[in-house]
Amino acid sequence: MLIAKAIVFMKDSNEILLENEKAFKSLFEHATISILVTDENGDITLGNPNAEKLFGYTKEELTGKPIELLIPEPLKDIHRKHRHQYFKAPKARPMGLGKDLFARDKNGRTFPVEISLGYYKLGIKKMAVAFITDVSERKKAEAILRSSEETTRLIMNSALDAIVCIDTNGCITVWNPQAEKIFGYTESEIKGRRLSETIIPEKYRALHEAGLKRYITTQEQNVINKLIEITALHRNGREFPVELTIIPMRQKDNDFFCAFIRDITERREAELRQNEYAEDLKQKNIELEQFAYVASHDLQEPLRTVSGFVELLKRHYKDQADENVTKYINYITDASDRMRRLVQDLLDYSRLGRERILEPIDCNKVVQEVLSDLTMAIQESQAVIHLDQLPVISGFATEMKQLFQNLLSNSLKFRKPGEPPVITITAIPKEDHWQFKIADNGIGIDEKYWERIFIIFQRLHTKNEYDGTGIGLAHCKKITELHNGKIWVDSTPGEGSRFYFTVRKRSTDKWK
Ligand code: ADP
Repeated sequence: MLIAKAIVFMKDSNEILLENEKAFKSLFEHATISILVTDENGDITLGNPNAEKLFGYTKEELTGKPIELLIPEPLKDIHRKHRHQYFKAPKARPMGLGKDLFARDKNGRTFPVEISLGYYKLGIKKMAVAFITDVSERKKAEAILRSSEETTRLIMNSALDAIVCIDTNGCITVWNPQAEKIFGYTESEIKGRRLSETIIPEKYRALHEAGLKRYITTQEQNVINKLIEITALHRNGREFPVELTIIPMRQKDNDFFCAFIRDITERREAELRQNEYAEDLKQKNIELEQFAYVASHDLQEPLRTVSGFVELLKRHYKDQADENVTKYINYITDASDRMRRLVQDLLDYSRLGRERILEPIDCNKVVQEVLSDLTMAIQESQAVIHLDQLPVISGFATEMKQLFQNLLSNSLKFRKPGEPPVITITAIPKEDHWQFKIADNGIGIDEKYWERIFIIFQRLHTKNEYDGTGIGLAHCKKITELHNGKIWVDSTPGEGSRFYFTVRKRSTDKWK
């Protein structure tokens, strides 16, 4: 009975052993980790299918080969040494703690691995088991993460903007070097402190806190993702203007806000200087116009006296004057006539736009009027005029008429000798202005004079070649400026000129 029991027990333990062996075999065969067994000499005695797959060798190719077959050349010697050491006091442990381990497959590919070592005895033989994991993918992912962290750091450090992030409690979590530069706090000084108690001027603190709270509870976005200008506070108490954009972000379930901030003190100062300069210029212009007005107005009187007395002289010496006296008197008459025209032009120029009223102007009508005023010149020169449809704009009637009058009479005047002028008048609507063009086939203008001709009294010809005082285009420039526009020319000498001018477009403007 006792014997029988003992036999039953024997049977059971054998069965158990058998079952365990089966289980281990299955584990060995199906493990997703690579397993290699070596003897004390470092020769491979077993390798599971995953190890075959990982290293590209068959079981037969692996069996009996030294484990260094699977180690890159430069590491083979050191591995041998470690292996000898290991078998002197073998125990289960990870291999190469803290060091990067590498393996090599049949194709010569070297790859990073992690290895756990186990140990067992087979009779008197000491055997080592290596559990090997290919960690190339993980290392790659780590490298990408590292490089993206480095990139982020690089961006933060070299950004021209101050980058400041706060958590939902309003405490500073990110502070880049540029933030240190513009606000005066170092990162260690300010990190963790409330934004509202550091870089926001006291008078805006409550507003900031309320805004943050409102966004968190309602997601209301009145300052988010927009370029805004506010006043910031430097560590030394100085307030200064900044321009910033706030972007809400989320990382690992944490909400936070990043602000990209730029100190705009210099820009503001430049704007201020610019405004002062413009104001100054405006004032000077007014004074200059007043001067031109007064001067030209007051010059008329003595001029009239000169002309009057010359007239008297002429009459007085009508019969007695010798040839020279008559010639001199004629010179004086010509010169004073010319001066009277100049003074009159100057007076007109300084009066331009005074007491002006903005009104709808049908440019088609204005041009027709001008053309009818110029009938004589048109007929004499046999000019051909092409008039496109023009818009009805808001402007100053007298000035607009004068503008067309000057440009058209110039196109007639500066025609090529012996060739009838061909003049085209067109207008096109642009985004916020109308652009007019008056093109002719006249003598043209050399590029070096394209700007100069708009300056008062600048002429390119003597009065004997072409009559004029050189004020017409200066008038045109002033008129277009009164209409918030510009005037310019482009031209091909010998072929013709194209004068362009613009006037501001208003909502009431339309095509006729
Ligand atoms: P003015 O006609 O009295 O000479 P403006 O101020 O009208 O004065 O023009 C200045 C100069 O620009 C003219 O003297 C002329 O040389 C040049 N100019 C103006 N319009 C034309 C044109 N359509 N073709 C060629 N030259 C022109």
